[in-house]
Amino acid sequence: MKLYVLDGGRIEILDWAVFQPDAGPGVRRWLSDTCYLIVHPRGTLVWDTGLPGELADVPEGRTIPDIAVFHVREPLERQLAAIGHPADRIDYLALSHFHPDHVGNAGLFTNATLLVQHDEHAAAFGDAPGDFGFDRDTYESLRSRATTLLHGDHDVFGDGSVLVKRLPGHTPGGQSLLVRLPDTGPVLISGDLVHSLDNWTGRVVPRHNCDPGETRRSFDLAADLLAEEGAALWVQHDLDQQAALRHAPDYYT
Ligand SMILES: [Zn+2]
Repeated sequence: MKLYVLDGGRIEILDWAVFQPDAGPGVRRWLSDTCYLIVHPRGTLVWDTGLPGELADVPEGRTIPDIAVFHVREPLERQLAAIGHPADRIDYLALSHFHPDHVGNAGLFTNATLLVQHDEHAAAFGDAPGDFGFDRDTYESLRSRATTLLHGDHDVFGDGSVLVKRLPGHTPGGQSLLVRLPDTGPVLISGDLVHSLDNWTGRVVPRHNCDPGETRRSFDLAADLLAEEGAALWVQHDLDQQAALRHAPDYYT
């Protein structure tokens, strides 16, 4: 099994207090937007798809007023092709959740089965996706995709090596991914359970969040899981932590 770290873009948050309420007004912060590819003997899985690849042609980035500026250096599609796993040949696509910075390239995975919690899917394709911070235009192509609706944790390849973990709160059906790497050791890939390592240390519930009570329960579940597994927590949006990882074409085993 190989785990590749991929660059899904970078985000300049214009008001970090949205994610860290005690940050003070007008503090800006850069976040990574990491995606991952797992190559397993029984198939391939992409976890999250970052920001749209076409933003690589927009040097100044795309501004979401008062919220963030989105930047992409190298389209995800090209990164996957360069390591011999083009998007249209990926078997499974699992999204931590449906916010725009995680679904940006979802339409490229035309032959993948989507792994999503049933309530996340219902919120995304229901009457009021905007209530959850979703933008249907960013993931409409997933409506007709082969989909496995999950009602909890899910063992992707049936051997316990890659587990989708249901950890809701930020969105109705938020997910993280536990990868039990034989050499590196177990890693819990955060999704947006938290947005930075200091967020995690302080167990900070952001303002940009669907259900604070669920989020706190998910923090406790994740803390127990990390302790039981002896797992490392990889926070997808923590720029310093993610930048220090070995990125594709290198990989973890
Ligand atoms: Zn995010």
